Amino acid sequence: MLVSAEDMLKKAKAGHYAVGQFNINNLEWTKAILLTAQELNSPVILGVSEGAGKYMTGFKTVADMVKAMIDSLGITVPVALHLDHGTYEGCYACIEAGFSSIMFDGSHYPIDENVAKTTELIKVAKEKGMSLEAEVGSIGGEEDGVIGKGECADPNECKMIADLGVTMLAAGIGNIHGKYPADWEGLSFETLDAIQQLTGDMPLVLHGGTGIPEDMIKKAISLGVSKINVNTECQLAFADATRKYIEAGKDLEGKGFDPRKLLAPGFEAIKATVKEKMELFGSVGKA
Ligand SMILES: [Zn+2]
Repeated sequence: MLVSAEDMLKKAKAGHYAVGQFNINNLEWTKAILLTAQELNSPVILGVSEGAGKYMTGFKTVADMVKAMIDSLGITVPVALHLDHGTYEGCYACIEAGFSSIMFDGSHYPIDENVAKTTELIKVAKEKGMSLEAEVGSIGGEEDGVIGKGECADPNECKMIADLGVTMLAAGIGNIHGKYPADWEGLSFETLDAIQQLTGDMPLVLHGGTGIPEDMIKKAISLGVSKINVNTECQLAFADATRKYIEAGKDLEGKGFDPRKLLAPGFEAIKATVKEKMELFGSVGKA
């Protein structure tokens, strides 16, 4: 069922595990993630970037597809449909389209303007029963053309944004979107610890989950991270499985060119990646 992310993340924070946010790009992605969540009895968050929303012809198409698929597949685990790194305008478009959760990425605004816009959006989201994620300190790497360095958020700014009444808070702790460079210094647990000390029960969000070593993920969860975003890893798994299929010449055998056959190995690869992450994050059986 489609729900806000609030309850699932409160439970995750209290239970010391994390819920995965897996970004979707099309029908295959959505189906693979929903089926895996149901099979593992895990809550799940479907992330949609503004670029992916545009690719799928608009947020309304996405929301309608997800709702219909939850119904058709008989998905009973909690599913949140969440705008990832939303602009101010994008947040309103998703509220209108029927999403259950939004992230307002005001990290590039001066702090006063970030606070004003976040406060306004919290009010609207609350009225609609939606969850809202805010970001403090820009998160490194590239996300839909938005580039930032791996920064560490100021814990006092985190506290200020958390106190506005956001549902969950993303903070830069040296994490980066996309593949991590060889000279990456790792997560700053000192920063994470300081943020958790000040924000208490607030579920914290770790962006750029691809390529962070397992022991760092586990430590981050122990320090209050309750939502972990995974995007690139599913893309790499999908591309790798699809390339193998083509390179083996399977598209040239019989009806191997049928898109339902051509996309099947990539679909299975996404399922396997999502399963691996849900097991690592500890959300299996927590629906
Ligand atoms: Zn992100």
